[in-house]
Amino acid sequence: MKNYARTELHLHLDGSLNIQWLYNKSLERKTIEPNTSFQDFYNTLFSINQLEHKESLKKFDITCDCLQYYEDLFEASYLLACRLDDMGIYYAEIRFASQQHCKKGLSQLEALQAVVDGAQKAMEEREIRIGIINCLMHKGDSALFNDKENRETIKVTKELLSKGVVGIDLAGYENNCDFNEYAYLYEIIHKENIPCTIHAGEMGNGENVLKALAMKPDRIGHGVNCIQDEKYLQAVIDTRIPLEVCVSSNVKRSNNYAAHPIRQLLERGVKVTINSDNMMFSNTSNFNEHDRLRMLGVSDETLKQCTLNAIEASFASEDLKQILKNKIEKEAIN
Ligand SMILES: [Zn+2]
Repeated sequence: MKNYARTELHLHLDGSLNIQWLYNKSLERKTIEPNTSFQDFYNTLFSINQLEHKESLKKFDITCDCLQYYEDLFEASYLLACRLDDMGIYYAEIRFASQQHCKKGLSQLEALQAVVDGAQKAMEEREIRIGIINCLMHKGDSALFNDKENRETIKVTKELLSKGVVGIDLAGYENNCDFNEYAYLYEIIHKENIPCTIHAGEMGNGENVLKALAMKPDRIGHGVNCIQDEKYLQAVIDTRIPLEVCVSSNVKRSNNYAAHPIRQLLERGVKVTINSDNMMFSNTSNFNEHDRLRMLGVSDETLKQCTLNAIEASFASEDLKQILKNKIEKEAIN
C-alpha cells in the first residue's frame, strides 16, 4: 500500500497534544485539581458538549490554560513535531494562537518564539520540516473585542516570518459576528506580505466561504460548507483556492464519513488537501484520514494528488516544495 500521508497543513498545536503529557503538565501547573485522576481528566476533555460548536471549543481552554510558559510551549511543539516525524510526515504547518498564551506574563512574541524554537529543535534532530502558523482569533461578539490582540498577532507574525513562522490564520468561533468584520485585518496582512489562510465554512454558513474569498487568502481552512450552495462551490472551483479539509474533525459529532462532502469536492475538481485539524480531540492522524478516505473508495491516485496539492499550497519555500514533490514521486514508483 502506498502511503501518501506525508503533509499536514491544518493542525492545531493545542488540539494535538499527547493526553498523558497534558495531564501531567496540568497537574504540575495546577490548572486542574491535584486529586484529578487521568480517567477524570480524560472524561472532562471528551465530555464537553460536542453537539454545539461554540460549547465544543471550550476544550481548548483546558489546553491553553496549561500552556502558559515558554518551556511548556517549547516542549509541546517539540513533541508534536517528533511525533509527526515518527508517523512519516515530511512537512507540517503547525498552528496556534500566540494571544491565547499570555495569561502568565509571556508576550505574544515570546509565546510564538517558544513554539518556533521547539519545532526548530525537532528539525535539528530529524528529517521533518515544520512551518508555524500564528492565528488571529474570533472572540466576543465583535471583531473589535480583541482588536488590540489581533493587531499584535499580525505584528509578531511579521517579526518572525521566515524565521520559523510561515503564515497567519483566523481561528475561533466563526459565527460570533459578521465574518466581514475581520476584513480589515486581512488588509493589514496583505500589506505586510504575510501568507495567509482563514477558517471559514466549517461551523458557519457556506456563505462565509464567499466572504473569506473576498479577503483574498492563499487557502481556506475547511471551507467544506461551500457545498451548501452551487454558487459557493463554483466560486471555490473558479478561484482554484486550496481547501484544508479535515474530515474526522467535521464528522466527529455524527461519525458519518459517507455524509462528508469530500468526495463531491474531489469529483468537482476542488484543490483538496487532507489534514487532521486536532489529532487529540478528533482521535486521528493524517494516516488515519487517508485510511478513512480509502475506505470510502478514494483512490491512491487521488490521495497522491491531494498530497501534491498540499505541497503546492503550502507556505514552504520553492526549493523545499521541489524536494517534497520529488519524495512523493519516488513514493509512487517504489
Ligand atoms: Zn482548525
